[in-house]
Amino acid sequence: MPVPLVAAALVALWPTDPPQPQLAQCLQRLRATSAARSIRPATWRTLDGLTPDPRVLVNLDAQPEFTLPIWDYFAVMVDQERIDDAQFLLREHRATLARVSARYGVDQATVVAVWGVESNFGKGRGGYHILRSLATLSCNGRRQTYFRRELLSALRIVQGGHVEPDAFVGSWAGAFGQTQFMPSTFERLAIDFDGDGRRDLMESVPDALASTANYLRNAGWRTGKPWGLEVRLPSANGQPFSLAGEGRRVRRTLEEWRARGLTRVDGTPLLQGDLAAATTAGLLTPAGAAGPAFLVMRNFDAVFSYNAAVSYALAIVHLADRLRGGAEFVTAWPTDDLGISRVERRELQALLAQRGHDIGTPDGILGRLTRDAVKAEQERLGHEATGRPGQRLLRALREM
Ligand code: CA
Repeated sequence: MPVPLVAAALVALWPTDPPQPQLAQCLQRLRATSAARSIRPATWRTLDGLTPDPRVLVNLDAQPEFTLPIWDYFAVMVDQERIDDAQFLLREHRATLARVSARYGVDQATVVAVWGVESNFGKGRGGYHILRSLATLSCNGRRQTYFRRELLSALRIVQGGHVEPDAFVGSWAGAFGQTQFMPSTFERLAIDFDGDGRRDLMESVPDALASTANYLRNAGWRTGKPWGLEVRLPSANGQPFSLAGEGRRVRRTLEEWRARGLTRVDGTPLLQGDLAAATTAGLLTPAGAAGPAFLVMRNFDAVFSYNAAVSYALAIVHLADRLRGGAEFVTAWPTDDLGISRVERRELQALLAQRGHDIGTPDGILGRLTRDAVKAEQERLGHEATGRPGQRLLRALREM
């Protein structure tokens, strides 16, 4: 899962740190359960003296995929920088990728796209200590049962020598490594592809890429099939096409969609090439009726299962299309203020700093300082002071 973008600004809101003695008692109770029997005393000692991490509890209720407008998410996740980086890595790792693709049946572009969205190709793996995060979440908050299983998995991973406890860092929720696997996912599906005896998702690119492909294959990926396609919705007598009840999981055959008047986005017939009329697909309109529309198939669901957010899955399959030479979506996002890329975020921060705002390091991350500066400039310009920077603010600042 991608690193939350809003977390830093919220940390200060957590009133008091949960006390450490309660954590130790809670972990003792977990250790006494039958599920914990596979973990040796020496492994448990890696948790000695651990303090709760209050940041992870704040994050428990704030996931950026659900709060950012999808066009902001896309502006960052499928920007030219990520496409260029991915093209470079497709060449750099072509031998490994060819073997991974042959073994697991998932195309190279999709594997690299997951890598790019999950961890920016291994560069952004999260700054949270996995055992500390999972211990905190096992004993506080609203999903303790789930996180206890993950903590036990994480301890077994350490016990197996796959990762050193001190190097075991990742997202606040416990996902780690270049593929951002949860510990239980690691146990089920991680692959030692370079054959050194360790399943190393932190440092081994072959292990990470093979594990990603193995995950998708297990999630039902079908070799050589499309994830879906952008479509054009019909309008009858000026009435908009009814989207009521439609969605990713409401599957109809392509023949039925054709009969309802859907075409490819360029207006050509839905059924062409090797797409079978009996193939089933769901209709996805992630920004409502005025935005792009897609028919999505089984391979989209496989990507969706990696991290259950439509924006996330759509970013991955679209990035993969772009790596294969595909174009941007034809239908525009329904907004007059599109999001800004990572290059543009850094430019925005430089412009804000030039205007005397303290934005900290111009790192492209929209933390509290940047958002405060954005708000101040929006107020001065007479824009709505949302703290969300888009193309509109960037243009205005460039012209000053
Ligand atoms: Ca290995």
